[in-house]
Amino acid sequence: MIQDIFPAKFYNHYKEQKFCASDSAFFFSEGKVLARYNQESQSLSFPTWGDFHSQSGVPTYLFSIDNQKYFLMPEKAALSADLFDFSFYTLRQLRDLPLATEAKTSLFAVFSAYHLWKWYDDNKFCGHCGHPLEHDFVERALFCPVCKSKIYPRINPAVIIGILNQTKDKILITKYRTGYAHSALVAGFTEFGETLEQTVEREVMEEVGLKVKNIRYYKSQPWALAQDILAGFFCEVDGDETIRMDEGELKYAEWVSREEVELQPNDYSLTNEMMKLFKSGGSI
Ligand SMILES: [Zn+2]
Repeated sequence: MIQDIFPAKFYNHYKEQKFCASDSAFFFSEGKVLARYNQESQSLSFPTWGDFHSQSGVPTYLFSIDNQKYFLMPEKAALSADLFDFSFYTLRQLRDLPLATEAKTSLFAVFSAYHLWKWYDDNKFCGHCGHPLEHDFVERALFCPVCKSKIYPRINPAVIIGILNQTKDKILITKYRTGYAHSALVAGFTEFGETLEQTVEREVMEEVGLKVKNIRYYKSQPWALAQDILAGFFCEVDGDETIRMDEGELKYAEWVSREEVELQPNDYSLTNEMMKLFKSGGSI
């Protein structure tokens, strides 16, 4: 999965950090990130702080992977001639690029940076009094100097659901009407006041009209594209197996046997890992 970067280690703890010319510096503009793809080595690289014009302002510390520190450049940062061979990419474009195994750490880094960039970009003013927010230098937070409100990074809980039929030889595969084109599982955001298991029951009923039982947790995954923490669950249908698809959300929902499961083109998502586990006959 995208977060599986072992033996590299991800350090998300916030502390005030000094930056130097060799630190990685993400620069986002309208949701796209400045990056360079090397087709020959199938690798991905990002600018360093030293590549930007010296008048670009103070970058914000994001996280480290091993000894490499990653910063976020201010939105008004000035691009210098050193950046001429970099281009702006959406995360979806980066996700679809063929990447060598060791380059997958870079993909996880840019996804994680996007999560924090989106949060900073969406939170420039205090929702309570409207005053511009400032960066807290003790923890990962924004604060309002007038009314003292504190805002922490947004992380949306959501579930991914592998639904098996009663004989456990078929899994319910979906395709969404918009967005990602490949095979998926039933999924949805947790609403206020419900447990993750209740989200599973509600989403399955809303999207495919089925009752489920034996809901069991599998694994979780941070998924920065929607600022999510995804929790994967398996369960079995309880009673009638007739699918009643929500046509507003899905364009395909069918019971599919192990041999017929079509996996996604890469192994970044929890959804794909769950489909793969079923397809390979693994214990679920
Ligand atoms: Zn305020």
